[in-house]
Amino acid sequence: MTTCHVVFLPFIGYGHMIPMADMAVLFASHGVKTTIITTPSTAHRLTKSIQKTINYTHQIELHIIEFNTGEAGLPPVSDNPDQIDSDELLSTLIQALPTLQEPFEQFIAKSQPNCIIADMFFPWTTETAAKFNIPRIVFNGTGFFALCASHETMTLHKPNASSDSEPFIVPNIPHEIKLTRKQLPRLESEGFKVFLKVFIQSVEAEAKSYGVIVNSFYELEPEYVRHYREVIKRKAWHIGPVSICNKNVEGKLERGKKSTIDEHECLKWLKSKPSGSVIYISFGSIVKVSRSQLYEIATALEACNENFIWVIRNDEETLIPEGFEARIAAKEKGLIIKGWAPQMLILDHESVGGFMTHCGWNSVLEGVLGGVVMVAWPVMAEQFYNAKLVTDVLRIGVSIGDVEWNPASLCDGVKRASIERAVATVMGAQEGDAMRLRAQGLKEKAKGAVEEGGSSYLDLNAFVENVKSFKSKA
Ligand code: UDP
Repeated sequence: MTTCHVVFLPFIGYGHMIPMADMAVLFASHGVKTTIITTPSTAHRLTKSIQKTINYTHQIELHIIEFNTGEAGLPPVSDNPDQIDSDELLSTLIQALPTLQEPFEQFIAKSQPNCIIADMFFPWTTETAAKFNIPRIVFNGTGFFALCASHETMTLHKPNASSDSEPFIVPNIPHEIKLTRKQLPRLESEGFKVFLKVFIQSVEAEAKSYGVIVNSFYELEPEYVRHYREVIKRKAWHIGPVSICNKNVEGKLERGKKSTIDEHECLKWLKSKPSGSVIYISFGSIVKVSRSQLYEIATALEACNENFIWVIRNDEETLIPEGFEARIAAKEKGLIIKGWAPQMLILDHESVGGFMTHCGWNSVLEGVLGGVVMVAWPVMAEQFYNAKLVTDVLRIGVSIGDVEWNPASLCDGVKRASIERAVATVMGAQEGDAMRLRAQGLKEKAKGAVEEGGSSYLDLNAFVENVKSFKSKA
């Protein structure tokens, strides 16, 4: 059997880098030779993923390339995702990405892989692939539902509504999904400006690419896998949930970066709580929460009296209401993690029954894999589509209420009463039990998809066969 060599080019943000690293591990577990090409700071974050492949036929290789901003007349750039905390720095980074093309192509010329799997933020890799006569596969970091719904609302049709808050039905998709214009990315807003150019280039490059690879599984969104392939007519492979490659505690503990809580402390706390009794609250790696919103969440959590784990960013620490931490510690009701949480470890724990999430795609999938019921609280990016999948299609969660797309990635404006209501619904029996049953069913399907003979397992093999035969067809 000839070996297939797949080259991965991840984007620097955690929500893109983590699943691509998991994907490389999964490919390695299928006997594929894999190389991740990346910049120094991301490379540092991927060493744990590489260690996971130590016993496979081909261990993941890492090839480091550097930005060449000086030569391109651009300012120096940081590739550390923790340092990119303003639109200005993000803009500098996005402008610098094309300077990776030259060193990337030098590696491709030398190693002659079978294909390139590159993040959507590297549209120029479609050009590279054409130059070397190999396929370029796009990784968007989201699921089929969002790919289909955004294709219909942003690329094809302008939503038909008289105002920003009047609901419209997303056209042409299998379910009747209502959204408002204020829930869609505002392409003209300041906050989107930094993305607009690369977003347009990315859409154009995707249309010319060989296909897309999706971190999802068929049983989760079958109508949308088919819609994407048959109606939008793109080649697509589903190989997820890729996070499943993290099998033991160590693997689940350190994805992206080291967690700021000791694993034993976290597990001990979880173990002390009854099964399904804890709600986990996290807004991912980018969203910021305003001071007033932190106050509303804190007071709601105190009033709900449910067990909870709440992740807050380091820079939000001083914003939580005075005395809150001491009160919840005294009641042993809550655990606050400041910084980076071991999210997979938490969601996989049987004490966790609910998840209040910003609906980043990785969080949604990790919630599905944990079999938890979700409070969908989208803030930006394609999170409003993901939230609709959770609440209206899969029916494993409730919406936090009428929130709008925020160009500054700021979570704000939801009152305590709405939070209390949503928490009570997902943790309670009335509607919660039916959602829990569906969530548990999906958890089993998610696991089965990646096992030998499952839908994602087979699609990964089909993908490998397809790209292997590309050269012989060419
Ligand atoms: N994550 C984590 N600990 C945290 C915050 C995030 O492990 O404290 C991980 C999470 O498990 C997920 C990724 O970071 O894999 C975040 O991706 P997602 O798509 O959910 O959201 P984003 O951060 O891109 O908005």
